[in-house]
Amino acid sequence: MTNKKIGIFLVLAIALVLFWVNPEKSIWIPKCPFYVLTGLQCPACGTQRAIHQFLHLNFQAAFAYNPFMIISIPYLLALATVEWFDPHHKLQRLKTFCHDRRVIYTYIVLFFAWWIIRNLI
Ligand SMILES: [Zn+2]
Repeated sequence: MTNKKIGIFLVLAIALVLFWVNPEKSIWIPKCPFYVLTGLQCPACGTQRAIHQFLHLNFQAAFAYNPFMIISIPYLLALATVEWFDPHHKLQRLKTFCHDRRVIYTYIVLFFAWWIIRNLI
């Protein structure tokens, strides 16, 4: 199995689990180790709960759990699309945008800014 197929399989498997299992009520969905150890939220804290709500079309609840990850979905979907579903490179403009250093650096800066801000508010 190629890395691409493993990646697609893992994304679908995680989406299925998070659709059927509510992380807020489940005892076997793992808790964030960073939060458990420090008491501080990492940038991804709330993502499992947000995805669960997103997959049930509860967008407001999803946004409340982790707004950064919800806002990131279009970029992450675009990145997955150009990497996994464009073997003939027909989406070259989208790929150029996704791989543009300014876009990547902006995403990284926002990622760390979100990490700091969410622990201050
Ligand atoms: Zn976390």
